[in-house]
Amino acid sequence: MNARVVPTVELGRRYAGELPELALPWQAAEVPVPRLLVLNEALAADLGLDPDWLRSDDGVGLLTGTRVPEGATPVAQAYAGHQFGGYSPRLGDGRALLLGELTDNAGRPRDLHLKGSGRTPFSRGGDGYAAVGPMLREYVVSEAMHALGIPTTRSLAVVATGRDVHREVVLPGAVLSRVASSHLRVGTFQYARATDDPALLRRLADHAIARHHPAAAETDHPHLALFEAVVAAQASLVAQWMLVGFVHGVMNTDNMTISGETIDYGPCAFIDAFDPATVFSSIDTAGRYAFGNQPVVAEWNLARFAEALLPLLADEQDEAVALAVASLERFREHYSEAWRGGMHAKLGLPAGLAADTASALVTDLVTLMQDNHVDHTSFFRGLGAAARGESGPARDLVLDLAAYDAWAERWLALSPDADRMDRVNPAYVPRNHLVEEALAAGTDGDLEPLGVLLDVLAAPYDVRPGLERFAEPAPDSFGRGYQTFCGT
Ligand code: AMP
Ligand code: MG
Repeated sequence: MNARVVPTVELGRRYAGELPELALPWQAAEVPVPRLLVLNEALAADLGLDPDWLRSDDGVGLLTGTRVPEGATPVAQAYAGHQFGGYSPRLGDGRALLLGELTDNAGRPRDLHLKGSGRTPFSRGGDGYAAVGPMLREYVVSEAMHALGIPTTRSLAVVATGRDVHREVVLPGAVLSRVASSHLRVGTFQYARATDDPALLRRLADHAIARHHPAAAETDHPHLALFEAVVAAQASLVAQWMLVGFVHGVMNTDNMTISGETIDYGPCAFIDAFDPATVFSSIDTAGRYAFGNQPVVAEWNLARFAEALLPLLADEQDEAVALAVASLERFREHYSEAWRGGMHAKLGLPAGLAADTASALVTDLVTLMQDNHVDHTSFFRGLGAAARGESGPARDLVLDLAAYDAWAERWLALSPDADRMDRVNPAYVPRNHLVEEALAAGTDGDLEPLGVLLDVLAAPYDVRPGLERFAEPAPDSFGRGYQTFCGT
């Protein structure tokens, strides 16, 4: 069976061409009754794709991989990975395909990738499919992250397939088309390393440098510089997650990119009440990927990345390890600097404030938030109002008013910059109850709530009248103990 040819789109085959050992040519499964559920017109335009054409039969064919342009080579990508700490030597795209690369309006290469496009040689026991709800969830949350200014893969479209997908219950199937600066993962390097082919590992590292960290090529030791660049990018990324209250939920090494983009939105969620122990994923019973554990896990994953790179770092293993250890030590510095700088901005603190004053203020605030289980997003936004003299919105979220008042007095004495705060403390994040509501309606065929939510989340820092309910914590009726489910 040959997929029909679409003449209008040019898809690069750089990954497939440069790394054939990591790219298995494959085709998407037939789609019985395709129906475009949501299309990201702005992103399409940025990729040089005509949104009207994408809505056509040929366009929807591209978005499901059933009609691909001439010369394109869709591939399933090979990778390994540590999942919850245990190593799997062969994961790979079990329900995904890389269609090829597009070039965006800024001239940057962008992967066009499908999720839910059917079985591949990497499927193991899986059916290769995805359901409408989880694909809409990735669409909503990844686009929200992008609007928040956090590096992430993007979502171009979700197409319902008309196929039943069997999970605990029967669900409608869907294909997500995802756009990323690449799909290189720590797990890609683990796979290449395990082949015992140093030339492949080197080609992969050089591909990653050219694509993501070109400055590394200009250094004395490009492969060590690549490692350091990924350490810095991931430290910055995870600091941004922590500042906004995002829990990825499944930080396996196959879900950690070399680019520093957030990838693979499975059991992710935003925290409501501030608590480092927060876990949403139903399968993360030990709390390995709890909110407060994410920096530690990122560092652990980067140690696995370093192990994969060792043959490129030095001829002697001892020397390679010493170099890797020294570079990995910088993770904590990078992370702390990014997080502290972010908190500085979230609190509108003046430039040049003594480091120990800022640090004491931030530490005491974190204790206050945790002791009082304050709603993370509304509390920080409320502090912006407090900086303008309106104490209510933040203070009302705290039970221990004496503790809040004592802290606020110290903080307000520094004349925090409220406008700066409002540019970094979002009013709207994809709160769990709002996401669930939009996904439930979307799965039932009503896409209106999803459209409204996407519009709200597209401008997270701009408070707009009439959107009050999108800025509020979940009603009590939503209940506590919210859980998300992985890999569905
Ligand atoms: P994830 O947890 O989504 O990052 O996926 C982990 C691994 O399981 C990857 O190799 C996926 O391709 C694979 N996988 C997840 N769901 C399915 C499925 N329904 N069918 C086949 N493979 C899957
Ligand atoms: Mg994954």
